[in-house]
Amino acid sequence: MGAAADPLPFAWSGSLETLDGKRVTQCALSRICGVCGQSLGRPIAFVGTPLEVGRNAFHAPPLHESCADTLVRMPAADPSWEAVTTSGFEFVRPTREDEDRRPTFQPNSLL
Ligand SMILES: [Zn+2]
Repeated sequence: MGAAADPLPFAWSGSLETLDGKRVTQCALSRICGVCGQSLGRPIAFVGTPLEVGRNAFHAPPLHESCADTLVRMPAADPSWEAVTTSGFEFVRPTREDEDRRPTFQPNSLL
C-alpha cells in the first residue's frame, strides 16, 4: 500500500484495459462504485466505448458521476470512452450462447 501517483480504480486489475471480474460482480451485487468502492446513489454513471454506448451494454461497473469523470480523465484511460448517466440498470450475465462471456450492465433509464 503506497501512495501511487495514479492508483487503479477498484474494479480494474493491472491496467485500465483489464477489469477484475470478481470485483465487477461485487460492484453489481453490492451496488458499490467501480472506482472508489463506496455505496452508489443516483444518478449512476457508466463509462464505455462508443460501441458499448451504442449497444447500451457496458462491461465496466456502475460508478459515481464524479468517479466516472475522474476515470475518463486518467492518463491511461481509453480516449474514446464516454460516460452516460442513468437512474437504474440491469446486470446481465452471459448465456452459454454468448461469445463474450463477460457480464454487462444495461442502463434502463438514461438521464
Ligand atoms: Zn465512486
